[in-house]
Amino acid sequence: MKVQLKQILKNAEIIFTEKNIPSPRDEAFYLLNAHIPVTRGEILLGVEREVEPEAIDRFMMDVSKRVNGAPLQYLIGKWEFYGLEFITLPGVLIPRGDTETLVDYALPILKEMDKPRILDLCCGSGCIGLTLAKLVPDLDVTLFDVSATAIDATRRNAELHRLTERCHIVQGDVLLEGTNYFPDNMFDMILSNPPYIKSRDMAALSPEVQAEPALALDGGVDGLTFYRAIASGWQTPLKSGGRLVMEAGYDTTKDVAELLKEYPFKDIATHKDLGQNDRMITAIKE
Ligand code: GLN
Repeated sequence: MKVQLKQILKNAEIIFTEKNIPSPRDEAFYLLNAHIPVTRGEILLGVEREVEPEAIDRFMMDVSKRVNGAPLQYLIGKWEFYGLEFITLPGVLIPRGDTETLVDYALPILKEMDKPRILDLCCGSGCIGLTLAKLVPDLDVTLFDVSATAIDATRRNAELHRLTERCHIVQGDVLLEGTNYFPDNMFDMILSNPPYIKSRDMAALSPEVQAEPALALDGGVDGLTFYRAIASGWQTPLKSGGRLVMEAGYDTTKDVAELLKEYPFKDIATHKDLGQNDRMITAIKE
């Protein structure tokens, strides 16, 4: 069947606009591209293309899923983080721009070290630890998550970026102490983006975020459950002088910094993300 993809894209854009999808044109383009690879130039020129009718049906099915709240990133199966592509699986948190703040902080420190060994706790897709492994050639990374789907996503992403040799992927529970899994003083840095949404705020999240796993979002009554577990139970695998680098909510970052004061950490600092929201806590183990 010969079609003008420009027209098909326009129809989807109109549907998205009516249903208040943000960036309707871009989302329609990303989604079309997942089914029928096309450049923006071809669209602009109104080029006619021979396409399978089934491909258009599949695209339209995804358009309706998107309108019903499915995140674009799950429909297209991939998303960009720190300039790298990551496979996105339903059931695993979608990589977010805010989390790039952790990579920005860690990267220059790790580049200065000789064969740094790091742990990405609650790794989800693996985006933090794998990005650092990709950008620091002698880095050794352990990625840890409780969810079998997250472990699967991390493994696929490690393969995608050809990092399996410098990667150790471990399924386990951050709410149990780190000593159950790793020897003392093993890591130079522990990075984590644990679940941090306060339980009472979960119901108010957008439909897109609610389509993501609650397991990766719900941080308990005060959003601090996982930080308490990390501060008390995960000091032992961190070397003395090693760094703890954690993402938190705009409304919990300061609380996490206070919490860390009760444990043997020094140089506790909070940092903002690109949107100027409190987003990250860093500290050094005494
Ligand atoms: N940043 C995510 C959100 O606001 C939450 C991620 C998390 O809980 N770690 O949707």
